[in-house]
Amino acid sequence: MRKNIVAGNWKMNNDLPQTEVLISNLKKQTQTSNAEVMIAPTFTNLWHAFEALRQSNIEVIAQNMHFAEHGAYTGEVSASMLQSVGVQTVILGHSERRAYFNETDELLAKKVDQALKSNLRVIFCFGEELADRKSNKHEAVVASQIQNALFHLEASAFKNIVLAYEPVWAIGTGETASPEQAQDMHAFIRRTLESKYGHIASNNVSILYGGSVKPGNAKEIFSKPDVDGGLIGGAALKAEDFYAIVNAF
Ligand code: PGA
Repeated sequence: MRKNIVAGNWKMNNDLPQTEVLISNLKKQTQTSNAEVMIAPTFTNLWHAFEALRQSNIEVIAQNMHFAEHGAYTGEVSASMLQSVGVQTVILGHSERRAYFNETDELLAKKVDQALKSNLRVIFCFGEELADRKSNKHEAVVASQIQNALFHLEASAFKNIVLAYEPVWAIGTGETASPEQAQDMHAFIRRTLESKYGHIASNNVSILYGGSVKPGNAKEIFSKPDVDGGLIGGAALKAEDFYAIVNAF
């Protein structure tokens, strides 16, 4: 059965001392929900975070990786490097990677393949821009992002994939999709998967919502039947806010 997940995407925030402080504050929080909790610090702080959270139930995950196993790719980080510092899950396809680093569906298909081949779990992000929604193309855009990057996979691969629907217009803007908009899109995503992989695979995949989730709106969003958690940006940078969201289940 699918899991509830709350993952904090720290983006390019928090140097090492700040990471130490935030982790120590996270460890003081109490969890009352059954959600899996993850944080994604930047590459340079993954090992420290992994060590500091060894005895906790917070999983340390990565924000990105390269598609090649190793080699002449200056500035890049491979799946096996992530694994060697304790990482078992990687976020791929975040809209900031797509927008600022030209990551295409085709490139992301390669990254997904490399991650799964290396036994990493993938949180695969996608979502439409405001213009797509205004012109009523949001479902078509989301379907094509999923099809282009994931539909070459076998159904069994979805055991190691979590989907994260993040409408670009809601990320970091303070503007959230309404709980109904999120539910409608999540149900559409599940139908899209079902048409290719059948009911079991589509029903078992966790679909997270991301985009301005806050302590004040998390409960209502998470109460929707096809929303299995959240990918949290800004509100993941304060331990109390993050755990208010974790405990919104
Ligand atoms: P936000 O970011 O919560 O700050 O909108 C979400 C994300 O980019 O994953």
